[in-house]
Amino acid sequence: MTNAEHRHLRLLLAHYRELDDPARVAVDAHLLTCADCRLALAAYAEHEALLLRSLPARAISAPGRRPASPTDAASPGCALVSSPGQ
Ligand SMILES: [Zn+2]
Repeated sequence: MTNAEHRHLRLLLAHYRELDDPARVAVDAHLLTCADCRLALAAYAEHEALLLRSLPARAISAPGRRPASPTDAASPGCALVSSPGQ
């Protein structure tokens, strides 16, 4: 592992949850051998948890708590109707 590779993987840690599979595999392999990056990832996770706790409760309410509207009750025949020939 070169210093440049370490720096590149370190940058990916900030987006760890959004990484695609090849990038995540590379980061995971690096984490096994690099204590610095394990600490950095833990710090990102802690920071993210703090941010989530600072949000107002209603901003993270469960989708099921949303008031039901008549259009939410999807019934066959009244949903999206595609016109033939398009
Ligand atoms: Zn590293």
